[in-house]
Amino acid sequence: MSTVLSIENLSTFFKTDKGIVRAVEDVTFSLEEGEMLGLIGESGCGKTTVAQSILRLIEYPGKVVSGKVILNGKDLLKATDDELYSLRWKEISVIPQSAMNALNPVYTVGDQIIEAILLHEKVSKSEAVKRTKTLLELVGIDGERQKSFPHEFSGGMKQRVAIAMALACNPKLVISDESTTGLDVLTQAQVIALIKNLQKKMNLSVILISHDLPMVTAICEKIAIMYAGKLVEWATTEEILNNPKHPYSKALLNATPNLSDPDREVVSIPGSVPNLVNIPKCCRFHTRCPYAFDRCLNESPELREVTPGHYTACFLEGDKNG
Ligand code: SF4
Repeated sequence: MSTVLSIENLSTFFKTDKGIVRAVEDVTFSLEEGEMLGLIGESGCGKTTVAQSILRLIEYPGKVVSGKVILNGKDLLKATDDELYSLRWKEISVIPQSAMNALNPVYTVGDQIIEAILLHEKVSKSEAVKRTKTLLELVGIDGERQKSFPHEFSGGMKQRVAIAMALACNPKLVISDESTTGLDVLTQAQVIALIKNLQKKMNLSVILISHDLPMVTAICEKIAIMYAGKLVEWATTEEILNNPKHPYSKALLNATPNLSDPDREVVSIPGSVPNLVNIPKCCRFHTRCPYAFDRCLNESPELREVTPGHYTACFLEGDKNG
């Protein structure tokens, strides 16, 4: 397997009246070809900011202040607007949080997918129409319904259309940003199953952004856990479930009901997430961590590989070389 995306020490800050919000700081992880990685954490932890930074969608007063986003060997943060234009859709695309916002209500769904294809690829209109039919069928929608308008679809169907749009130009990497938000539980499960199915069928690399730990552990090969703008742990799903290293990951697992162990007590995480405005150098989890000691209050732990392929940011964990 080859590395499709590599994020290195990515930091994105926002300037506010009250000071600098270090919304994402020093985030590092990578994604292999055909792999699905769950980027998980509580709301406001920086997951969507990471996605927007990768896609170069951060707007003032936000700014990517440092780091690299290497997509198939090309640093997206240094790409020109023309280069970015040709990479979006064809190399990287996004399934948005809400299909309502992604679909234009005054055009048929078919016209919207056809337009995306024609804007980014040199193909004839009839070829684009044919591909749109195939794409809709791929996501479980009758291809003839390309003549329908968004309001003629249910929420789940609209989300399927948004997935078809994201796949319009055969990208290698898809970012799914809480794409099932607002859907009922059954439809959520169907949409997630569809994304998993397409990942396998098309050998896609997928970053699945979510706060739903059970769902992520059920379908992702790897998991990266964020807390208050920092990546605290990144490993295979099996390692995260059976051998979590970071106190926040352990607390998150304990705070999540487990269907295979319904008698296990669910314990909520005490305290609250720190204010990220002008946050001092420290472990951002120290106010909630039962193991915090002096060093945690004055220094920020770096993400380190503690066993092969298992990374965490906690002073309690030595690196893989001891
Ligand atoms: Fe807890 Fe310290 Fe580890 Fe942070 S670095 S998680 S405060 S022990």
